[in-house]
Amino acid sequence: MSVYLICFRAPDGEKAHYKHAGHYIGFADRGETPQASVEARLREHRAGYGAALTRAAVDSGLDLVVSRIWEDGTKDDEWRLRCRSENPRLCPFCNPEAYHLAQGVGHD
Ligand SMILES: [Zn+2]
Repeated sequence: MSVYLICFRAPDGEKAHYKHAGHYIGFADRGETPQASVEARLREHRAGYGAALTRAAVDSGLDLVVSRIWEDGTKDDEWRLRCRSENPRLCPFCNPEAYHLAQGVGHD
């Protein structure tokens, strides 16, 4: 079980946005390991049936990259992280200081 952060990227690897959104936070619990369950969810997102936002991003030509995984993160953690509305700050690809933030998720 884990919470993951997806970073939207243009085909050239540069940071990209769909409308105002550049990130997506989701929850995965259907794999043997946190990594495997997030990869399975990423495949769904890339195929266009993971979530409305990621589908729109893929449809507009963006790539989806998992930039962070909170292992043992719960549905509640997913909700709390979404409510923080600071996805770009939590993303290590967009903010070198990101790992200092939200460290306790999944461990408290
Ligand atoms: Zn990012």
